[in-house]
Amino acid sequence: MGRHMGGEENRRVGRRAVLIGGGAAAAGAAVLGWDELRHLWWRLPGTEKRRVEGELDHAGAEWTAAARANWRRADRPDDFGIDRVVIHVVQGSYATALRVFKNPGHGAATHYVVGKDGRVAQMIRELDVAFHAGNRAMNERSIGIEHEGFVDRPQDFTAAMYASSARLTAGICARYGIPVDREHIIGHVEVEGTDHTDPGPHWDWDRYMELVRRAAANPSPAPSASPTAGAARAGRREGAGGGSVGGA
Ligand SMILES: [Zn+2]
Repeated sequence: MGRHMGGEENRRVGRRAVLIGGGAAAAGAAVLGWDELRHLWWRLPGTEKRRVEGELDHAGAEWTAAARANWRRADRPDDFGIDRVVIHVVQGSYATALRVFKNPGHGAATHYVVGKDGRVAQMIRELDVAFHAGNRAMNERSIGIEHEGFVDRPQDFTAAMYASSARLTAGICARYGIPVDREHIIGHVEVEGTDHTDPGPHWDWDRYMELVRRAAANPSPAPSASPTAGAARAGRREGAGGGSVGGA
C-alpha cells in the first residue's frame, strides 16, 4: 500500500480503514500498525472527521474553546491542505489571549496559545480554519500559534516558551508532512498583505528552528486526544491581562 495515494485509491483505502476500525481493529493493527491507521484516518476523504468535545490535536495542551465567530468549520487536511505554521506574538499576556479569543467581537483567534512558562492552550481544532493571519488563503492553509508577550520585550521569549512551541510546531509538521524550514514556518509579518509586525525582531528564528528540528528528530509520544486532559486543568486561574491584543 503506497503512502502517497491518489484520490480514488485513497477513497478505497479509506473505506477499508473504516471497516478495520469498525470490526477488526486488532487484525488491522497487525497489518498496518497504529501509526498508519491514524495516518489513514486523517486522510479519509469525503467524510467529516468525528469531533469529540474537548479533543486535542497536541498532547499536553489544555482545551479552552475560542468563540465560534473567530474561526470557520472545515475538514482539513481534506478540504484544504495544511502546509504553513504562522508564528504570532500576542502583545499581551496568556490570559489576555484566551480572553480575547473567547470574545466573538474580536474576529480573530489562533489554534494555539503558548505561555512564557511553556503551557499550551488549544482553542480551535486543527481541522478548522482559524482567523489569525488576516489573509483568507493563508488562514485556510495554516495553523496559527500565538505567544504570550510583547514584540519589544525579548525577555518575554523564554526558553520554556521556545521549547514548548517548538515541540508543538514539530508535531504539526509531522502530522501534515510540512517541511521544517522557514518557507513553511513563518511569522505573521511574512504573510502577504499583512500590516502586522509580529513576532518582531527579538524572536530568535535560528534558535527556534533548531529547536523545531531537534523536536522533529525526537518526537514526543503521539497525542492522546484525551477529552479529559483539558478538563482536568480547567480550574486554572485566569489572571487579568494587560495590553491590547494586536498580534492576532
Ligand atoms: Zn499575529
